Amino acid sequence: MSVQVNLQVFIGIGANLGDARASVSKAIDALAQLPDTTLVARSALFGSAPIDSSGDDYVNAVAELTTSLSAADLLQHLQAIELAHGRERPYRNAPRTLDLDLLLYGDEEINTADLQVPHPRMTERAFVLLPLLQLSADISIPGKGRAQDYVAAVAEQRIQELPIT
Ligand code: AMP
Repeated sequence: MSVQVNLQVFIGIGANLGDARASVSKAIDALAQLPDTTLVARSALFGSAPIDSSGDDYVNAVAELTTSLSAADLLQHLQAIELAHGRERPYRNAPRTLDLDLLLYGDEEINTADLQVPHPRMTERAFVLLPLLQLSADISIPGKGRAQDYVAAVAEQRIQELPIT
């Protein structure tokens, strides 16, 4: 009998096209439906200025899951959810209906052609760090140390928690 190991996983979610709030909420619902996966918690929604991108402000959130899916399988599911929400890639860093990033997969460090975990730019982005810290104030990023220690460096990035509607 094989033993399934559940890992704690964090997913970064962003959208800035169409009804971005609805896209983020639907994405969290879709994450909760993934096989062999449980949605543990979701951050508040945040609004943030586009970085390396264009268009309207983004709506962002982070979701915490436990899963026994492999990281590669989880990435495939994330990409399927992106496609289901009509994501197109007309050009690099184009505005996007939905972007899902695998931020943390347990305490694993993964460096393959398709997947880098921890997500390589997560410590540089307030729209990842703030919702992540809301879920887990003491979280450490494998190879990088405490997430909290990166917050001061992103203090200039415009971001606000969105009121619940
Ligand atoms: P993006 O346009 O930012 O959504 O990037 C998508 C591409 O990044 C895909 O081709 C993925 O294979 C790759 N990628 C590498 N690492 C990650 C990660 N941790 N989470 C999501 N996509 C990743």
